Amino acid sequence: MIKIKTREEIELMRESALIVSKTLGMLAKEVKPGVSTLYLDKLAEEFIREQGAIPGFLGLYDFPNTLCMSPNAQIVHGIPNKTPLKEGDIISIDCGALKNGFYGDHAYTFAVGEIAEETKKLLEVTKESLYVGIRELKIGNRVGDVGFAIQEFTEKHGYGVVRELVGHGLGREMHEDPEMPNYGKRGRGKKFVEGMVVAIEPMTNLGTHKIRQHADGWTITTFDNKPSAHFEHDVAILNGKPELLSTFKYVNEALGIVTDVEDEFRQ
Ligand code: MG
Ligand code: MG
Repeated sequence: MIKIKTREEIELMRESALIVSKTLGMLAKEVKPGVSTLYLDKLAEEFIREQGAIPGFLGLYDFPNTLCMSPNAQIVHGIPNKTPLKEGDIISIDCGALKNGFYGDHAYTFAVGEIAEETKKLLEVTKESLYVGIRELKIGNRVGDVGFAIQEFTEKHGYGVVRELVGHGLGREMHEDPEMPNYGKRGRGKKFVEGMVVAIEPMTNLGTHKIRQHADGWTITTFDNKPSAHFEHDVAILNGKPELLSTFKYVNEALGIVTDVEDEFRQ
């Protein structure tokens, strides 16, 4: 069942989402060769608690940390560890925060120092595919329209769209209805309605879309060990249109990226 949010609840969700946005912005300055994902995890936990929020993933389904840290061929749900990041790595950082009873949940994939040209392109295209999907989140459309748009855009570049992991509704629970796949058919699935809030999160592989699940019960990697990228935003349907609750503004400021791509999703 889809849980519709009131205007007031959407504003509370924006607050939770922005705590995650600021956390990712803080981490953007700290991601560099030699730094461990466990160190970044501790920074994030402290930062989230300072904002009066609780880390959203810690203890959720027994996940042991604040951040899901998934380097290189890892897709999502990676557990932070003491291995230092190295030049040329990419690292997907997925972060949740709980405040006022509502979750924020979003993710960014960072380059560690200089990365290969083909990996740079993978990150750019995956980030762009997120906005291609968000553009379809409006009254008159269905879940399949978002998935179709992301898949079509992604596969045009020759990349693999992960099937086993999907976006989701968001609210008082981290994972609510509906599931938001990054693949699909136009006109299929649940209809979008005013007051829905969803997390859209394309997971895109440089090679095959196939995945491998690891024995720790969490780690998921690409089947061919090629890199995978992941970007996620929280979006509400407000006045029939997509309204971005999270933002990459803080990451962009930290990394010196100038863009107005998010402007069209603000009312
Ligand atoms: Mg997430
Ligand atoms: Mg999510």
